[in-house]
Amino acid sequence: MSMERTDRMERDRDGGGRGGRDGGMDDERGGRGAPRRKVCRFCADKAAVVDYKDPGSLKLFLTERGKVIPRRISGNCAAHQRRVTEAIRRARSVALLPFTVAG
Ligand SMILES: [Zn+2]
Repeated sequence: MSMERTDRMERDRDGGGRGGRDGGMDDERGGRGAPRRKVCRFCADKAAVVDYKDPGSLKLFLTERGKVIPRRISGNCAAHQRRVTEAIRRARSVALLPFTVAG
């Protein structure tokens, strides 16, 4: 039994184990389809402005239940995440966005 095992391992090593592991790069962690953005979208796009009067774009940073999506997921930089949350706060106070959505 142990002989067979050794044999198999050697064959594996010989068989060019290098090629076998390719393609593992695009594994999403979790696989739940959470979009990962490398850079803050506002830094990337100079034309994009955080505006509390624009609930449509602010909603991109809210969950379905009306909670703010954390920076780790939204991918915003600290400065812009702050602006986004600030804008969301204002938008909520003028009823453009909900504080919470009853689940
Ligand atoms: Zn930014």
